[in-house]
Amino acid sequence: MDKPVKPDLQFAKEIIKAGGESLKKCYQCSTCTVVCNLSPEDKPFPRKEMLYAQWGLKEKLFKNPDIWLCHHCGDCTAYCPRGAKPGEVLGAVRKLMIKNYSPPSFLANWVADPKYLLLIFLIPLLFFLGEMALLGYFSGIEIPRGENGEMSYVAFLPPVPWIDIPFMAIAGFAVICFYLGVKKYWLDLTEGVELKRKDIYNCIYETIKDILLHKKFQLCTLNKNRSTAHLLVLYAFIGLAITTGIAAFYEWVLRWEAPYPQTNIVKIIGNISGIALVIGMLLIIANRTKNAVKQGLGSYFDWLLITIIFAVGITGFLAEILREAEVETLGYASYIAHLVFVFALFAYAPHSKMAHMVYRTTAMVFAKTAMREEVKKEEAA
Ligand code: SF4
Ligand code: SF4
Repeated sequence: MDKPVKPDLQFAKEIIKAGGESLKKCYQCSTCTVVCNLSPEDKPFPRKEMLYAQWGLKEKLFKNPDIWLCHHCGDCTAYCPRGAKPGEVLGAVRKLMIKNYSPPSFLANWVADPKYLLLIFLIPLLFFLGEMALLGYFSGIEIPRGENGEMSYVAFLPPVPWIDIPFMAIAGFAVICFYLGVKKYWLDLTEGVELKRKDIYNCIYETIKDILLHKKFQLCTLNKNRSTAHLLVLYAFIGLAITTGIAAFYEWVLRWEAPYPQTNIVKIIGNISGIALVIGMLLIIANRTKNAVKQGLGSYFDWLLITIIFAVGITGFLAEILREAEVETLGYASYIAHLVFVFALFAYAPHSKMAHMVYRTTAMVFAKTAMREEVKKEEAA
């Protein structure tokens, strides 16, 4: 006999507080499921998730890959006749899932709550300022310059290991948090489920291909531009990771000190990626504000990540332009701000919306192993 359903109204309240305020308006008409182009014929979403959320069925929501198979396109929100905003409700559930899976949960609380906004940026700022104070930069010493007397962030900043080692430490911390979170999520997803495909590496390969081509995003109806914007940001991140790798090789292996000329490959890839990042983020902001009435503006959680990524791009360019123009004080301040935002991006990645790239990828791999691929409505008709 099936177990009786036990509503958890406390959890339903948590979803409401996390951004699912409109949850109670849903009257289960299923329009959202019909319009969602990512919803599979077998166990379609998001109508059933709206019901689970109203009843506060935490386990059913958390062990459900559909929460992450939703790409938050907002089509369902636009067509919901009751204004229940299912896209936003699923976004709120994802936020609670990140807190549940990524340890330590207090960091997720910091990232999700505006009252900690100052604190999350103050930590890296005080860290960098503290390093500079230790080196005597606030005791009136002359700011060092590069080998040829040029303005140089490498000469100005604490020695390279003082910057690189803390960044490597926070990147390692993020990897451990993600590893623990994904392991727990995968165990929950696969509990009692028969994995029909055993070729897990092929499933991972197919998922990465889908992500690189943004196949799922292209199925969105109302907000088609979202795919281009998101794709630009994705490739910008890949380009910036390559840039960082080359710069580390220059510094640690070849012992070549920055700044590098604009014609150097590291600058070319870095600048192109930076431009793609800023344009992609501007498009994301424009899309969100343009479609806010129909599809929802998104929560504080969404906007915090948008702000951090945008600030990483802008402060990076500002620092570069000001260095080329030899505008010292503003240039140094921009560079410190850039480091603070990059630190925040990495350190809080497992607890911010950035975690979507890992948990959604896990859910997509699971969907392939369980052969739970979506069937487009027109194919099924
Ligand atoms: S969320 Fe809206 S469209 Fe979906 S079932 Fe509820 S009322 Fe209908
Ligand atoms: S936001 Fe888009 S992908 Fe998510 S359930 Fe709604 S229509 Fe489907």
